[in-house]
Amino acid sequence: MRTLEIKNKMNFKTSIQKSYKTDILVIGSGSAGAMAAIAASQGKYKVTIVERYGFAGGTSTQMLDTFYGFFTPSDTPKKIVGGLPDLVVNELNKSGNIFLRPNTYGAGTGVNYNPEKLKEVWDNLLVKNDIQIFYHSTLVGVENKGEISTCIMFHKGLGFFEITAKRIIDASGDADYCHWADIPYEKAGEKEPAQSMTTIFRMANVNLTEFEAAGGKKILKQKMGDAYISGKHPLPRKEGSAHEMCQPKCISTVAVKVVDFDPLDPEGITKAEIEGRRQSFIFEDFFRAEIPGYQDSKIIGLSNQIGVRETRRVYGEYRLTKEDCMTAKQFKDQVFLCGAPIEDHRKSADGKSETFWQYVPDGGTYGVPYGTLVPKDSATIWVAGRCFSATHDAHASCRSMAQTMSMGQTVGFAAVQSLDTDCEANNVNVSKLQDTLIAQGAILEQPDKVANISRDGWRNNK
Ligand SMILES: Cc1cc2nc3c(=O)[nH]c(=O)nc-3n(C[C@H](O)[C@H](O)[C@H](O)COP(=O)(O)OP(=O)(O)OC[C@H]3O[C@@H](n4cnc5c(N)ncnc54)[C@H](O)[C@@H]3O)c2cc1C
Repeated sequence: MRTLEIKNKMNFKTSIQKSYKTDILVIGSGSAGAMAAIAASQGKYKVTIVERYGFAGGTSTQMLDTFYGFFTPSDTPKKIVGGLPDLVVNELNKSGNIFLRPNTYGAGTGVNYNPEKLKEVWDNLLVKNDIQIFYHSTLVGVENKGEISTCIMFHKGLGFFEITAKRIIDASGDADYCHWADIPYEKAGEKEPAQSMTTIFRMANVNLTEFEAAGGKKILKQKMGDAYISGKHPLPRKEGSAHEMCQPKCISTVAVKVVDFDPLDPEGITKAEIEGRRQSFIFEDFFRAEIPGYQDSKIIGLSNQIGVRETRRVYGEYRLTKEDCMTAKQFKDQVFLCGAPIEDHRKSADGKSETFWQYVPDGGTYGVPYGTLVPKDSATIWVAGRCFSATHDAHASCRSMAQTMSMGQTVGFAAVQSLDTDCEANNVNVSKLQDTLIAQGAILEQPDKVANISRDGWRNNK
C-alpha cells in the first residue's frame, strides 16, 4: 500500500488500496464512453472503463429513452450516423425494444428504446468485448508522469485505488479528467447562459386512447398554457414534451426546468435535484387533474439524477462553432455528421425558461472534425461526448446521443491507431482513421437517399 499526495488541485494524502495497469482507460461509461471502449477493444490492447454509477449508458439509461441524431430532421429524413452506434440499436431491435418516433419534434425522427433493456445491452457489449469494467468507481484525481497517466479512483467500499494507463479517453461528460489534469476548458455559464437542467419523470397507466380522443398533444399544450397563465398549477413553464415509451401505457415527460444552480458545485446540484423533484410532482398533479387519460396515472420513476445538459467543454485542436453548424460546413478531417438543430434550453431576458431552436438549412448536415475530440496539444488524451470542443451554440446542436456515440467510436479507433503507430493524439493519420470508420459503416458524407422509416423496422431504408 502506498501513500500518495495527489497534486492538481486536491492536495491531500491518502492510501492507495489497489493498483491496476491498462493500455486504454475510458473515464465514464455514458453513450460516448461505452462506445469508445467498444471501439477500442479489438483484441490488441487492454481496455478499462470506470463509471461512478452501477450501470453503463450515462444519460442514455439514467433518464432518457430516445436516441436522436441518427436521422436528419425534415419530411425527407436521411440516416447520417452508422457503424458501431447501429450495433447498439440492432441489439435493442432484436429483442423488440425499439420503435421509431416520427418527426414530431424539431430534433427529427427518434429511435425510442427501453432504457432498462439498454442497461443490459451496454453490459453485454462491454463484457463480450473483454473490457475491464469498474462500476461504482469515481475518478477523483490525476497524477501525470509524461506519457503515462495515473488516475485515482474512489470506491466507497475499498477507498482509493489507482489505474495507470498509456492512453486516456475522458468521456465523463463533465471533463473530470481534463479538470484534474489542468487541461483548459470553458465552463458553461461563463460566456453564455448555461442550459437548464431537467428531471425527467415517467407516468404509468395512462389511457392513451382517451388522451388521443381528447386532442392528444394539442390539448396538452393548450392546458399547460392555461395552467401556467392562471397559476392554478404552479408550472415552471408553459411547454414541454411528453411521449409514449416502449413500456405499455407509460409516458416519459421532459418538462421540468431548473436554472441558476451550478451542477459542478455540491450545494448547487443538491438544490437542483430537490427543485427537479418538486417540479415533477407539481406536473403529476397537473396531469392527473387536467389531462384526459391521466386521471388514474402516477409517476413511477424519476431520472436517476437531474439531467445536466452542459458543464465543461474543453478547448480542443478545433472548436466547433455556430457558423460551422448553420452553414452546413464540411471538413476534410470530419469524422461524423450532425443535422440536429441548435436546441438551447435557457432563461430568456424576462427571466422565464424557454427553448430556442435554430435549424441547419435545407435539412442538411455539417461535418464534425477530428480536432474537436483532441484537447489542444494533447499527446495521449481524447475527449468524447458532451465535454467535446465546441462553443455553447454548436454544443446545443451536436449533443444528441447518435453524435456522442459517434464521438466515442472515433476516439476508440484513434486511441488504437495511436498505440499501433506510436503517434500522438493530435498527430493521428486522420485519413486512415476515416478509412477505419467507413469500413465499420460510419457515414462521413451526407447521403442523397431518403431513409424509408417505419415504426416496426429500423434499418429498412433500402
Ligand atoms: C434532460 C436531457 C434531455 C436530453 N434529451 C435527449 C434526447 O431525447 N435524445 C438525445 O439523443 N439526446 C438527448 N440529450 C442529450 C444527450 O443525452 C447527452 O448529450 C449525451 O447523453 C451525453 O453523453 P455523454 O456520454 O457525453 O455523457 P453522459 O451520458 O453524461 O455520461 C457520462 C458518464 O460518466 C460518468 N462519470 C461522470 N463523472 C465521472 C467520474 N469522475 N468518474 C467516473 N465516472 C464518471 C457518469 O456517471 C456517466 O455515466 C438530453 C440531455 C439532457 C440532459
